[in-house]
Amino acid sequence: MSKSKVNAVNVRTTPLSSLKRKGKVIASPMSGLNMQFSSWINDAIPEVLWSLLAITGLSRENALSSFRRILVNVRQNKSALDTRRLEHSRLAELEQPVFNALFADECANSDFATALSPLLLLPSLPDRKHWETLLPAPDVASWSRLAETVARTFDHQSQEATDCRWLKITTVAALGKLHMPVAMSERAREYDEYPNRGDMKSVRPSIRALEMSLRPGVGDEKRTSWMDEFWSECWDSTDCLMANPDDEATRADHRAFFEQVKSLYEAVVDHFLMTIEQTGIDAKHDACFGLVCYILQLLFFCLKSTVGQALPGRIALRSAVECYITLAYLVHHDSETVWLQYRNYGAGQSKLAFLKRIDQDEVPSFISTELLEELANQDAWMEFQDIKLGAWADKNLRSMAQEAGEKAFYDRYYDALSGYVHGNWSAISHSGFGLCLNPLHRFHRIPLPPRLLIDDAVPDLIKIGNLSVDKLAHMYPPFKPRLRRNEP
Ligand SMILES: [Zn+2]
Repeated sequence: MSKSKVNAVNVRTTPLSSLKRKGKVIASPMSGLNMQFSSWINDAIPEVLWSLLAITGLSRENALSSFRRILVNVRQNKSALDTRRLEHSRLAELEQPVFNALFADECANSDFATALSPLLLLPSLPDRKHWETLLPAPDVASWSRLAETVARTFDHQSQEATDCRWLKITTVAALGKLHMPVAMSERAREYDEYPNRGDMKSVRPSIRALEMSLRPGVGDEKRTSWMDEFWSECWDSTDCLMANPDDEATRADHRAFFEQVKSLYEAVVDHFLMTIEQTGIDAKHDACFGLVCYILQLLFFCLKSTVGQALPGRIALRSAVECYITLAYLVHHDSETVWLQYRNYGAGQSKLAFLKRIDQDEVPSFISTELLEELANQDAWMEFQDIKLGAWADKNLRSMAQEAGEKAFYDRYYDALSGYVHGNWSAISHSGFGLCLNPLHRFHRIPLPPRLLIDDAVPDLIKIGNLSVDKLAHMYPPFKPRLRRNEP
């Protein structure tokens, strides 16, 4: 399967080309709709917990049979229930005899009662008193059972979750509160005979869509305190299960590349000496070779797995991307003015940093005042230099890439990588956190120690190294050495 095909198969989202841009925002396809959000995990799971325990603790056939018998009881107790559905906060409002009329027969079945017994682990369960009269005390395995239930129903589209969502809508129907147009009578029969009638590929999504309209925040439904209490009791009573998503990362062995990169670097230096024409300032020659050497150095240091396979590898790669686009832009224009503009901007920035530094009491450690002064005075005494503010070419990197015919390269790398330099949330989340695998903790994040990541920046840096050498060879031909992609 080709790479593009793999991507096409996995994508379940609107393609970028179909999204509309509104000013500085690429709007989501849902943004025009007046939507209220409700969460299956946060809000729905705590309120239908008893049914989730049944569907995961019994065979599906037995659980659905129990649900059907309970639905008969709902119909028979319609007036006592009024608008109340079978959710814990609403069941708590019932008198015990009405509650028993709904559940006592099922709870007389020990499999059903045992399956639901983890409910009694939860002190704040709103209808706890009712269940206490019908269920056995939870045992040592009950927390594990509760965790397994949440894990199997965490995905709101899972079969178990869909079965319980079906129960929610059929409860409303049993109360006589679900009104469907005549044209949808077949759909109503499909709900009635679920899961034995109609095409489940269509019935299941329609159940889920309808169930969402019965959630808090929609219509008259309000959030209940139990929705938060459930998750906080799970948090208080169970421990984290920390997982490193890159647990299987193995150190990439790039030893063979050390020699390759070293010899390419030496060949670039030799070529520099072969092509230098004079000892005065040659902005083009220096920039061309300098940018290539800089990219090769980034690659060289990333060959260590503790760099290339760790957070600094992403930052190095992002820098290499910018250097390559800068080189491509310079080569594309190949104008003395532009080469000088690039060089002078750098000198001006050093001057600016130097002037700011001499007024400061505390100075950074990574560069000395002397070095800054030297860099600023390299081509001319800084007193004669202007300081250019903003971007050196008065363009952002995207425009430079576009002009240089490197937009596809820019699109491939820029967005995801820039997050690592700017500390955007996705980059922080990826590099700093792992998941707690305890389902009762809603798979929250936990900071991890500095670690190796499965994905390696080195193959990308090798590509960029070769691309930059291509540009060098174009400006100063002939130059044949390249990095071999397949490691020996
Ligand atoms: Zn946790």
